[in-house]
Amino acid sequence: MEKQELYADVIVDLSVKNVDRVFQYRIPPELSDSVSAGCRVEIPFGRGNTSKCGYVVSVTGTASLAPDKIKDIRAVVPGAVSVQEQMIVLAWWMKERYGCTMNQALKTVMPVKNRVAPKEEKTIVSLKTKEELAVLLADAERKKHRARIRLYRALMENGELPYRLTSMKLGITAAMLKPLEEKKIIEIRAEKKSRDPIRDYGRESGHIRLNPEQEAAASTVIRDYDAGIRKTYLLHGITGSGKTEVYMELIGHVLREGKQVIVLIPEISLTYQTVMRFYRRFGNRVSILNSRLSAGERYDQLERAMRGEVDIMIGPRSALFTPFPDLGLIIIDEEHEGAYKSETAPRYHAREVAAMRAKMNHASLVLGSATPSVESYYMAENGEYRLLTLHSRAKKNSRLANVHVVDLREEMAEGNRSVFSRKLREMMEERLKNREQIMLFMNRRGYANFVSCRSCGQAVRCPHCDVSLTYHRDGRLKCHYCGFDMRLPKTCPECGSPFIAPFGAGTQKLEELTKKTFPEAGILRMDADTTAKKGAHEEILQSFAEGDADILIGTQMIVKGHDFPNVTLVGIMAADLSLYAPDFRSGERTFELLTQASGRAGRGDLPGDVVIQTYAPDHFAVTAAAEQDYGLFYRQELLYRKMMGYPPVMKILSVMLSSADEAELCFAADSFNREIRRQYALDGVLIIGPVEASPYKLNDIYRKILYIKNESYDILLKIRKSAQKLEEEHEIYKNISFQYDG
Ligand code: ADP
Ligand code: ZN
Ligand code: ZN
Repeated sequence: MEKQELYADVIVDLSVKNVDRVFQYRIPPELSDSVSAGCRVEIPFGRGNTSKCGYVVSVTGTASLAPDKIKDIRAVVPGAVSVQEQMIVLAWWMKERYGCTMNQALKTVMPVKNRVAPKEEKTIVSLKTKEELAVLLADAERKKHRARIRLYRALMENGELPYRLTSMKLGITAAMLKPLEEKKIIEIRAEKKSRDPIRDYGRESGHIRLNPEQEAAASTVIRDYDAGIRKTYLLHGITGSGKTEVYMELIGHVLREGKQVIVLIPEISLTYQTVMRFYRRFGNRVSILNSRLSAGERYDQLERAMRGEVDIMIGPRSALFTPFPDLGLIIIDEEHEGAYKSETAPRYHAREVAAMRAKMNHASLVLGSATPSVESYYMAENGEYRLLTLHSRAKKNSRLANVHVVDLREEMAEGNRSVFSRKLREMMEERLKNREQIMLFMNRRGYANFVSCRSCGQAVRCPHCDVSLTYHRDGRLKCHYCGFDMRLPKTCPECGSPFIAPFGAGTQKLEELTKKTFPEAGILRMDADTTAKKGAHEEILQSFAEGDADILIGTQMIVKGHDFPNVTLVGIMAADLSLYAPDFRSGERTFELLTQASGRAGRGDLPGDVVIQTYAPDHFAVTAAAEQDYGLFYRQELLYRKMMGYPPVMKILSVMLSSADEAELCFAADSFNREIRRQYALDGVLIIGPVEASPYKLNDIYRKILYIKNESYDILLKIRKSAQKLEEEHEIYKNISFQYDG
């Protein structure tokens, strides 16, 4: 059989201003093994076929013009491609994959040049012994000097602290340090030179010894790495199973090879405790990015990475674009987190971009989670990712909590109209008596716009889509997947009860009710309102960890990242609320939240209890979470996805059209729909819509959405390209803006 011809799309003349088009070249057979995305090639260019340097952005089997018009690549140019060049290639890939402009992609991957005088990395060093610090701490505690309490505690633990991390994460200011410096309690040292990485990473003393499961996971990756094999690994380990220790083992190995590492951690989980774990092990070769850095500080950190002054960058999604010259490993912790998906153009998912970057850099990619996304687990099942599993908690004596499921319908039937079930109330009283701490979790935010029945707990659902209908202000219920629409019923369609209403109670209400029921208890509340202020998030968590309150009430935010050894009871007020979000991922979100929330109880030496209050005690997301059984959840969920044709079984591309002119929008959406159907309906492509987006009118702009489904993402990409062509070429779309997602 004749070997298939391969072609490469090549960016010629790489300057940031001039990369909006690619030229296609043939890959001669002798180069077929050495040409891949990201590599530099020599090509004949223009009439005179002068030799130019180009960068391969993609390799394909189909020629985009007559094959005899396509010239051959002359050679692969040896030598490393610079980081900036890699980033441009990555931007190109993102533009193609996500349908944004090259400019948007470049802005995302390139740090905004915003020079500040580079700051020296300073260290806070204690000049006192542990005993002397203990005396100072006691004094600060008496005077309720919060910042000092934190600083002394941190110094007692570590002896020295990285200045930047400390000010960022502990809210300790220069003004506060000054008098301590004068009193010779601390000294602030300028770090003249970075430490020697190889020597530092060789120093293994004092580390935790991995248990056999952790060891097996780590050595699988390391063996592959040493053999030159690069893959994507999915590390599935229950909360507290020691995933972070496995990451650090891998990081140590890759650093000893002289390479660099990117660690993505959702911002909300990037607590002081986590940061210090990395710092203790890897010293000042670690750098942190977060959204609170100014553009200048951010640029400064990225420059340090480029110059090789740091080897590990920890941060949220955007840390993926750290310009490390020789990246060896990318880790994405809590890979299931929604925050890894960008909601502005380019609408990328960090997992996908990480996979691309890993491929370009010949790096390994490790995804970790206690509750992997269905997408990732599906990939692991199909052998695309290598699955690594940790089954048990790493700390001795640390057991999973006892989970109690309470049926709220029964509470109601027996006359208990309080938000606290009898079981939860009883357990709370007991904890308060024993001076142990309690967390109450209310997953309300973002889920308020549906209608549910207080007697049977059912939300009113779409008869066609099996998602909850969204309540609109005009009093109608609408399905934002298929457009189905009905008036708000007077009684519950399931049980006939008149107690049916848009769902209400939020965290603030819960705080009020808790105060009323437990007047003696100290209560802290954490939600989007109480954390709007800079640093408030850390402040509340610290304060709770320091025992300032008995009860912490909060939204999703409280279930992430933090260890509270004294928390022995977690109450989940209405577990099924998130089940009714109008989104096919609502079951997955619910399972994830319940599992993560349950993981908060009993992390210390005291055993923990979790009370899950729910109207849907038999829903598999609830029962599987109660059993802490991911496999049970996954199998059920996959059946549902298969049945309904949702990802990962089917891929979905959504196209949103918007305009200030409603009539124009409707006309455009209908024509667009007809045209796409005409071109693609025969290829087994499923097109749903156009339907009104939720919300339909946003800032005076009307929005309609189409969902296009197919098993193959390549087909959807093709459709997106045709759509973009339509969008550009037809007069009727002139005033319509298009947004692609998927
Ligand atoms: P995860 O990231 O899976 O939630 P962590 O890595 O944070 O788990 O580990 C949970 C706790 O167990 C931490 O306090 C950690 O120090 C401890 N731990 C992890 N691995 C071990 C081990 N092999 N031996 C003893 N303790 C461990
Ligand atoms: Zn009902
Ligand atoms: Zn529907």
